Amino acid sequence: MRGRLVAGNWKMHGNRAMVRELLDEILDQAGQLVSPPAMAVIPPAVFIPQVAERLAGSPVVVGAQNVCDQEGEGAFTGEISGAMLREAGCSYALVGHSERRALYAESDELVGQRAVAALAAGLTPIVCVGETLDERDADRTEDVVDRQLQAVLAATGAERAAELVIAYEPVWAIGTGRTATPEQAQAVHAFLRGRLGAVGADITIVYGGSVKADNAEALFGMDDIDGGLIGGASLKADQFLTICRAAAG
Ligand code: PEP
Repeated sequence: MRGRLVAGNWKMHGNRAMVRELLDEILDQAGQLVSPPAMAVIPPAVFIPQVAERLAGSPVVVGAQNVCDQEGEGAFTGEISGAMLREAGCSYALVGHSERRALYAESDELVGQRAVAALAAGLTPIVCVGETLDERDADRTEDVVDRQLQAVLAATGAERAAELVIAYEPVWAIGTGRTATPEQAQAVHAFLRGRLGAVGADITIVYGGSVKADNAEALFGMDDIDGGLIGGASLKADQFLTICRAAAG
C-alpha cells in the first residue's frame, strides 16, 4: 500500500544514553505532527529492544538494518533471523543497503533471499537500490537499479511486490553531502514504478542520499517520491522531525 514514509538509518552509531536522549527528543514532537508520514528509526541491532520499549504506543516504529537470509534457527554466526527481529519489535528490515553490497559483498541474489526471509517473518523489507557514480556517468543507472530490483522480485515472486518498500539510494549521494536533484531522483523513481508493473502505483518508493532538513521538501514534492531513507540527518532529532514534516501528507 503506497504511503508516505520517513525512516532513519542510524547505521553503526550510538550508545544507550544517546538512544535515550534522541528518542526523548523525537517523541516529544512526533505526536504533534499534522498528517504525519509513517515514521521509523533503524538502530544498530543491539539497541532494538531498548528502542522498541521506548517507542511502544508512539507513532514511531522500529526497523532492523539487515535480516538473515535463512528462516528458522541454525548455525549462522553473526546473523539475526527475521523471527527474532519481529519478536524484538521490528516492523521493517533494510535489505541491500549499498554499504552491505559494497563493504560486505552482498550479491543481488542474497539481497533477494533476505527480502524473502523478511516477508516470511512479517517484516516489511525496505529494498535499497542505487547506482555508483561510474555507473551513472556511463548512463547505466536504469540497468543497475532494474537488475537489483528484478533480483528481489525473482526471489519474492512478483505477486509479493506490493508488500515491499523500495528505497532509491544513489551510492554517490550517500553520506557525501551530494544529493540527487529532485528531477534526477524523480526520473529514477518513475522508472522503478514503471518496472514494478501493475502494482507500481501502490508501492511506496522513498529516496535516500544526503536528505537534510533543507532539501527534503523539494525532493518529497516530486510525484513519485514518497518520503526518505535518512542516514546522517536522522541522528539529530530536529533534522529528522523537519524531514518528517516535509513528508507529511
Ligand atoms: C543511508 O544510509 O541510507 C543514507 C541515505 O545516508 P545519508 O542520509 O547520510 O546520505
